[in-house]
Amino acid sequence: MHKITVAGTGYVGLVAGVCFAEMGHQVTCVDIDENKVALMKSGVTPIYEAGLQELMQKNYAVGRITYTTDYKSAYKDADAIFIGVGTPEQPDGSANLSYIANVARQIAETIEKDCLVIVKSTVPIGTNDKVEQFIQDFLVHDVKVEVASNPEFLSQGSAVHDTLHAERIIIGTESKWAEELLKKIYKPFHIPIVSVNRRSAEMIKYASNDFLALKISYMNDIANLCELVGADIQDVARGMSFDERIGGKFLNAGIGFGGSCFPKDTKALEYIAKQHGYELRTVKSAIDVNKDQKTMLYKKASKRLITFNGLKVAVLGLTFKPGTDDLREAASLENVPLLLEQGADIFAYDPVGAANFAKNFPEGISGRGSIKYVEHIEDALEGANVCFIFTEWGEVKAVTPDMYKKLMRTPLIYDGRNIYGVDEMRAAGVEYHSIGREPAL
Ligand code: NAD
Repeated sequence: MHKITVAGTGYVGLVAGVCFAEMGHQVTCVDIDENKVALMKSGVTPIYEAGLQELMQKNYAVGRITYTTDYKSAYKDADAIFIGVGTPEQPDGSANLSYIANVARQIAETIEKDCLVIVKSTVPIGTNDKVEQFIQDFLVHDVKVEVASNPEFLSQGSAVHDTLHAERIIIGTESKWAEELLKKIYKPFHIPIVSVNRRSAEMIKYASNDFLALKISYMNDIANLCELVGADIQDVARGMSFDERIGGKFLNAGIGFGGSCFPKDTKALEYIAKQHGYELRTVKSAIDVNKDQKTMLYKKASKRLITFNGLKVAVLGLTFKPGTDDLREAASLENVPLLLEQGADIFAYDPVGAANFAKNFPEGISGRGSIKYVEHIEDALEGANVCFIFTEWGEVKAVTPDMYKKLMRTPLIYDGRNIYGVDEMRAAGVEYHSIGREPAL
């Protein structure tokens, strides 16, 4: 059992903290957000992740996890401090390291015993060298401190499962002491550990995320070509998936990738390359394709309709993917303002993300149009002139083709997630446009 402190209780930090506690470690989670800490103390998770709240309550009840804003007491005698604060994108595409720097400074000023600091956040290659130097420069007590890299690979929506059953754990260390300590901390997880140096660990994270982003953009690019040449992207992907060199995952075409990671991590790696005088053309192309892809359906619908002004527009799904309440870089954030500008009256449904979305787009009149959030999909579809599907929530998939035909004034669907078969929509008398497939007219 180790005394572990986790800095930052977002998707990465909180899930890591709870899973360390579940594995028997004594965990303190620190956040600067008092509201979040109060919520967690009351047994409620500030983020939506399947299974997280149950594990929080279970480990809190037995005293293995606590939550605090008092970083001083949380850092001073920890064996290991994991940093999971955000590294958001800056306007020039580079990663904002100010949150990491703040934590590093707080650690330096408070630790009173030897400690390993582990950066879980995604950071540009070489950052951990600087974090270590920074901490050493600001140390108040005479203690040994070292920094290790331990990038996180969880997917939002299945974060707890991904952490407890990860395919591998990457640790990047510069000493045997750091390597052995991390191996001990992770021993109870029974997950293969890949041990490399710090810079390679930092690169593994970017290279992995950007590879997946490339895969998605590649499939979207091929999907757009499929439409032009009369091929069907789903059949194409199915055919490709049998090839083990390609693999069956991440072959779904759609309206582009979103979320907090792929968009920023592609731009950050491109930026890092540029800093070194190198143009990372593959990743740059993935970014460009994704940008266009997000408004693909809006562009299609604009060609089909004279105007959106005064039309009832059903929007199904707002989050960047199902299973999360996260809206960062979601396609809805690009499309809803375009629709509102054009005077659409939007009726939006999302089982989890509506409240977050309403913070950016409050209910009521907005621009030339208006937006209303509904609890039942039927209320969005009833009398609608057109429907956009942005997220493949189970609740959305459960809508049958007949329901669009029955409820909508004109059953005209733009599906960004290829939920339905073209033939079933045609058979139901629904006009159906999707990505990389012929339309049902
Ligand atoms: P997040 O924005 O959800 O959470 C960050 C948390 O850090 C917030 O609660 C914030 O209040 C807190 N914080 C900020 N400054 C602090 C300080 N000085 N002390 C304590 N807490 C502080 O972020 P996230 O989505 O969990 O991502 C964190 C990092 O992990 C990023 O670098 C991200 O790229 C990486 N990552 C994210 C995912 C993902 O799916 N979200 C997956 C893998 C890696």
